[in-house]
Amino acid sequence: MAVHAHPDDETLATGALLATWAAAGRPTAVVTCTRGERGEVIGDELAHLEGDGPALAAHRTRELAAALGALGVTDHLFLDDVVGTGERFEDSGMAWLGVGRAGAAAERPAGAFVDVDVETAAAALARVLRDRRPDVVAGYEPGGGYGHPDHVHAHVVMQRAVGLAAEPGEGRPGHRVPVVLWGALPEAGLRAAYAATADLAGPGLVPSDAEGPLPSAAVPDAAVTVRVDAVPVLDRVLAALAAHATQVQAVRAVDVPGVVAVLALSNDVLQPVLAQEGYRVAPGGRPDDVVWPRAVAVVA
Ligand SMILES: [Zn+2]
Repeated sequence: MAVHAHPDDETLATGALLATWAAAGRPTAVVTCTRGERGEVIGDELAHLEGDGPALAAHRTRELAAALGALGVTDHLFLDDVVGTGERFEDSGMAWLGVGRAGAAAERPAGAFVDVDVETAAAALARVLRDRRPDVVAGYEPGGGYGHPDHVHAHVVMQRAVGLAAEPGEGRPGHRVPVVLWGALPEAGLRAAYAATADLAGPGLVPSDAEGPLPSAAVPDAAVTVRVDAVPVLDRVLAALAAHATQVQAVRAVDVPGVVAVLALSNDVLQPVLAQEGYRVAPGGRPDDVVWPRAVAVVA
C-alpha cells in the first residue's frame, strides 16, 4: 500500500514498486490524501483548469485512475472518502524556497490537508490498514521528499496510522505492518544521473544541476537499502507518467547508465528516472517478514 499526498506522487515516487507488486500478482492499494487542485497545469490546452479547483480536481482524478490502471493498481481510495464526513481534504499548495525545496504557500484554502487533524486522518488510514493488512506501506520520508507541506503531513499521518493499526479497533483485529518504506534517492547516483542527462534537455527545459542542493529524500547511497529494478516495469511506469499530462511532461525512455527515462514537471527542469527506485526501511521494520518480489533487492 502506498500513501500519497497528490495525484502523480504514486507514480513519481512509488511507480516501480507498485507496478512490480502488481505484476507479481500481489494485491496493491493506493491512498491519496488530496486531488491536487492547487497545482500548476502543463500545456495550453488545459491551462484553463489552473485556479479552478473543482475542475482541476475532477480532471486529476481521471488522470490518476488512468495512471493506476497502467501500473496495475486496482484498489484506490481518497482519504477524505474514508473519513466519510463529506469534508474534502484539499491540496494545500506550496512555494519554492530554493532548488528542490518547497515550503508553505502564502495562503491556503479552507480544508487544506495540512490543517486536517492528524488523529482524524490517521484513524481513517488505520481503518484501511486493518482492513487491507498490507505487508509493506510506502510513502515519504520525514521531509516529504522535497518539503511540500502536504507530503510532510502525509508522512506524519502515515506514521501515526501505522501505530494505531497495530492495535485492534472498530471491531477489527490489529495489524502490525512489517515494513514501512520511505522514498530515498542515492546522493551520488542522483548527481551522476543529473550530469549524464544534462545534454538531453530539449527546447524549453533546463537540466538538473549536478552540483546544486538535493531534495530531502537524498541520502548517502549506502543508506538506500531497498532498491526496485525499474527496467521490467518501465513500460507500465512510462504509461502512468504519460497519464499525468497536466503535471508531467517530456516523458521518454533513454539509454543512459543508471537512468531509464527522463521527464520534467511544471518547473521545466529535466529530471532522470533512476534505473532503481530507492527506499529506506523506517525504524522498527522487519524486512525478513516480507516475501519480496524478485525485482526488489533488500540489503540487510
Ligand atoms: Zn505531491
